[in-house]
Amino acid sequence: MSEHLSEEQVADLRHELERQLARLEKSMKVTDEALRTVELDQTAVGRLSRMDSLQNQSLSRGLREREVVRLSQIRDALMRVENGSYGTCTVCDGTIPFERLFVFPEAPECADCVG
Ligand SMILES: [Zn+2]
Repeated sequence: MSEHLSEEQVADLRHELERQLARLEKSMKVTDEALRTVELDQTAVGRLSRMDSLQNQSLSRGLREREVVRLSQIRDALMRVENGSYGTCTVCDGTIPFERLFVFPEAPECADCVG
């Protein structure tokens, strides 16, 4: 485990990651519903609402893409908690300060390596 984080801090961050994971999985179910509903709508609705549907569908798809990225970030972070590399930047091997992890518990890199 990274030495700059106390066991208690890691436990807190892990708890937060698990909370966010649960919330994300719930919202992904809602997105699933939205994507499925649009498919059903295609045959039955008129032109105007079909345009609405298409717009909703592209919104839902964009949302789904972001959800998938976030899901893998959170899962990766939890894996790093497990294997003891949590809190270490995956790019430069430097430490990620607790203050940053507190705001972005899923962050894989330090503030210098972002982007
Ligand atoms: Zn870094």
